[in-house]
Amino acid sequence: RKLGWAIVGLGKLALEEVLPAFAAAKYSKLVALVSGHQEKAQQVAQVYGLDPKNVYAYENYEALRDNPNVDIVYIILPNSMHAEFTMRGFKAGKHVLCEKPMAPTIDECNRMIEAGKQAGKKLMIAYRLRYEPMNRKAIEMCRKKELGALRTFEASHVQVTNAPNIRLSAKLAGGPLGDIGIYCINAARYIVGEEPVEVTGMAHQPSDEERFREVPAGFAFTMRFPSGVLAHCDCHFGAAKSARYRVHCVDGWIDMDPAFSYQGLEMRVNRKEGTTKMQIEEVNQFTSEMDAFSAAVMNDKAPETPGEEGLADVKVIKAIEESARSGRTVKVV
Ligand code: NAD
Repeated sequence: RKLGWAIVGLGKLALEEVLPAFAAAKYSKLVALVSGHQEKAQQVAQVYGLDPKNVYAYENYEALRDNPNVDIVYIILPNSMHAEFTMRGFKAGKHVLCEKPMAPTIDECNRMIEAGKQAGKKLMIAYRLRYEPMNRKAIEMCRKKELGALRTFEASHVQVTNAPNIRLSAKLAGGPLGDIGIYCINAARYIVGEEPVEVTGMAHQPSDEERFREVPAGFAFTMRFPSGVLAHCDCHFGAAKSARYRVHCVDGWIDMDPAFSYQGLEMRVNRKEGTTKMQIEEVNQFTSEMDAFSAAVMNDKAPETPGEEGLADVKVIKAIEESARSGRTVKVV
């Protein structure tokens, strides 16, 4: 059995990655589209063989309520629209998968979680790497302490982001920390398996580059975990693509580079005997993520990355931003 999905927002991620990922899905099928551009949406519907009446506008999104073939909506809109469209999705009686970062504020995250509870529907945040075998292997090794106790974690996520792009708008997406720095934050939390208690952060916003008029170009930040693990990370919108992490343990290290990309992840494990490259089968991360949510809904199980997981990252983001503003260490509350 396959559950029916509606994709909300037909931007780059939806068109290039998510829609093609349904082809290999076991439990998920594409049924409907929700878009601000009806002509584009009808063209896309034709390509994927959808019934033209299953194309909705943002304004009549709630009409999904009357479409029993749609079980789940997947919100792939600018971050500033995540909360509104998640809550409207619940009102339409659907389960919701929402892209990261969950929302620009802690308050919105809380309201999204509450709305799901009120509706009796599930909320999952789209952390695709949690449904990807190599990152899952790294998590398992760290939980079992296969390389001894963890001491430090380091991660970088940088890329060149040029205008026009929602990521350069303070309102729509809010800059590199929530967009790509979040991968470092999420990885630190899933690798360490704890919640950070305090953070420090620094931001750089060049005054002579038009694209960084509204948002910082980059951040460097540290997180302190209860067991004493220290994590240091950086993210930037002005340097060549790099997406990696390394976990330093008493008896060795795990290195993943790239760690956050859609494909081609590479993991090396260092022990006293030497360093080995892990051979782990690659999956389509979007197929795997969507099928995991369909399976959670079908079996009435909590998703592995529920709203609370998105909220936890947003709390860390807010603390790093506060530290960068104040120049002080900030507690994560
Ligand atoms: P995009 O700019 O390519 O697409 C955004 C979509 O929202 C477009 O269809 C656009 O028409 C629509 N939209 C509606 N109202 C808009 C408005 N007022 N301004 C601008 N666009 C508006 O962005 P994207 O790269 O597809 O990102 C969308 C979401 O997906 C973001 O939340 C982003 O963080 C997330 N994302 C996640 C991953 C991942 O790997 N999980 C990768 C890329 C993006």
